[in-house]
Amino acid sequence: PDPGPRKPGLLGRIFGAETKAAEPRRVLDDEMLESLEELLIASDMGVDTALRVSANLAEGRMGRKLSVSEIKTLLAAEIARIMEPVARPLPLFPKKPQVVLVVGVNGSGKTTTIGKLASQFRAAGKKVVIAAGDTFRAAAVEQLQVWGERAGVPVLTAPEGSDPASLAFDALKKAEAEGADLLMIDTAGRLQNRADLMEELAKIVRVIRKIDASAPHNTLLVLDATTGQNALSQVEVFRKISDVSGLVMTKLDGTAKGGVLVALADKFGLPIHAIGVGEQIDDLAPFDPEEFAQALVG
Ligand code: GDP
Repeated sequence: PDPGPRKPGLLGRIFGAETKAAEPRRVLDDEMLESLEELLIASDMGVDTALRVSANLAEGRMGRKLSVSEIKTLLAAEIARIMEPVARPLPLFPKKPQVVLVVGVNGSGKTTTIGKLASQFRAAGKKVVIAAGDTFRAAAVEQLQVWGERAGVPVLTAPEGSDPASLAFDALKKAEAEGADLLMIDTAGRLQNRADLMEELAKIVRVIRKIDASAPHNTLLVLDATTGQNALSQVEVFRKISDVSGLVMTKLDGTAKGGVLVALADKFGLPIHAIGVGEQIDDLAPFDPEEFAQALVG
């Protein structure tokens, strides 16, 4: 997919004019380190990660004269080093059907991401089934059906307000009977009532384990990059109520600075399976740490 025009990166935004000049060099001193820290914090990286990244960059280099492009290269390398271990596509297991539970707050991009993933897996020759597990939101179910049509993948639904766990059970039975490779289960994202949501997710897991004790094989948490630091607390909440195994970060095509991904990698180390870069079916890209680090730094 075409990621569109590149966003100006961190240093590009602040030292924009300077980068075009004949590479002035500056002494890496406390003052410069502080402005670097501020820049990183402003990129949504969070204070802890920003301080650690700056400290790593400064180690053994204080008092040295550096050009902006040298700082950029060092910074990109520091960021890529944090991101490399978490850049991992969704693992596919020989187990059939592989059950992927998709969780996240409403509006994060769950439905869209399920549609995009279904399309990619189908293009890779996999047989996919989707279960519209957010049975309380009629609009979500309709939206998922639209995505299912686009991706050419069946979407199993249940009457509005019915038990998501029983839909998940039926869906897994059906996916099994049809020899599907992958079952993706959408879930509700009402964080307003955490205890209810926890019970709902736990029940889905309990019920599908009656069919396959190893299910779900993945629990994918979908996060919206435009929520910035909020993404960190969403990971904390969802890790308490489900067994999150990996992340998809959506809406990185917008104005989101994306630094929160560095904070997430630094803090949780959860795999980032893919990133959403638009609203169309092909707008889901593998996470590339080098490219990401360079785009962030600018
Ligand atoms: P859900 O409530 O979590 O299922 O969220 P949806 O999948 O319905 O997405 C909410 C909104 O975000 C929709 O308008 C989507 O088109 C939009 N969206 C989802 N992913 C992306 C993305 O990667 N980029 C952009 N720009 N918009 C996205």
